[in-house]
Amino acid sequence: MTVPVSSPEPQGADQAPEDLCGGRLTIDRDAIAANWAYLGGRLTAGTECAATIKADAYGTGAAGTAKRLAEAGCKTFFVALPAEGVEVRKVLPDAVIYILGGLFPGCAETYASANLRPMIGSAPELAEWSAFCKAHGQALETGLHVDTGMNRLGFRPDEFSSLLRDRDLTGPITASLLITHLACGSDPDHPANRRQLEIFRGATDPFKHIPRSMANSAGVFLGPEYHFDLARPGISLYGGKAIDTQPNPMRPVAMIEARVMQVRTVPSGETVGYGCTETAKERPRRVAMVAAGYADGLHRRASSSDERPGGFAWASGHRLPLIGRISMDMLALDITNTPEGLIERGSFVEMLGPNVAASDLAAYAETIDYEYLTGLGRRYHRRYQALPDADPAAHAAVLA
Ligand SMILES: *Cc1c(COP(=O)(O)O)cnc(C)c1O
Repeated sequence: MTVPVSSPEPQGADQAPEDLCGGRLTIDRDAIAANWAYLGGRLTAGTECAATIKADAYGTGAAGTAKRLAEAGCKTFFVALPAEGVEVRKVLPDAVIYILGGLFPGCAETYASANLRPMIGSAPELAEWSAFCKAHGQALETGLHVDTGMNRLGFRPDEFSSLLRDRDLTGPITASLLITHLACGSDPDHPANRRQLEIFRGATDPFKHIPRSMANSAGVFLGPEYHFDLARPGISLYGGKAIDTQPNPMRPVAMIEARVMQVRTVPSGETVGYGCTETAKERPRRVAMVAAGYADGLHRRASSSDERPGGFAWASGHRLPLIGRISMDMLALDITNTPEGLIERGSFVEMLGPNVAASDLAAYAETIDYEYLTGLGRRYHRRYQALPDADPAAHAAVLA
């Protein structure tokens, strides 16, 4: 009998014991399901709430997250790559699965046998898929992507209209969903939103019998005009912040707790870490060395220096600022202001979770929470269970 060395979801015997890992990553699938239900509640009556689960469901584990969402009632799923679709199909035999990346060359047979619907956005893809469907003798269900100004994927509106008029090209397929994607949805006041909405309406109004979808997470919050027949949120399911300028109503779903390896005193005037970038100014510092670094997705750009404060962690009611550069396997936290003995060798500190929002960390690293969540790395001991509630002191500390 062969034992798999790795599975999509390392758990129990499949992964290194927690004692041997630098930290643990806890994923709360019930919170993901609760976020999905919350978004569904914000949608116009009759709009289906689907789920975008690309990039391993934003780092939460695509197979398990897809199963939990299906249990909650989700019927339609979006992934980026055909390989991701094949994985999800193994656990959800009946779900509708769209491949946002479209039809990959030479892969039509795989799409058909795994019942994956390509989101087609170019004439060569449509030609290959139509020819396959013809040969297959079946008008397979297909998504069509209209580009309304993002210039990433999709048919340009005039191209789209002429294609759908041309029955020779579209006859052998069944168009089951028309989508477009917002370029600036996170900024509700951006004029591109309304411009894209109008272009999408103009291009697709003649095909009202085909369901339409515009809203990612941000689109859900932009209001009913953006909802159409189906919404396909991603980041909000995973607790991320969809709208830059509004408080985030979503529940956090992931927590990283990293292990303290040692606590040391850095004398006044000495520096911490690579590059000697941060000095213990004016007084000695107590510093906790933590066993997680940029190889674990804690971006080096969030390092602290004499010039610029860095990210932070949280432990027992205390906000702990980084001191010095984040290394590959470790980072340093300034714990001078915590009571003696509160944080010691073997303690765990929260690097992400109910008290340390991914969007806050991301801001220090000049990136977005999407990149944080999808880049969490593979060295954590993973577990799937409920997260604790946020510490009321954490919110106050962030504002201070
Ligand atoms: C990633 C993606 C989504 C989900 O976007 P979020 O901002 O994470 O909600 C929806 N549609 C398309 C085309 C995407 O690429």
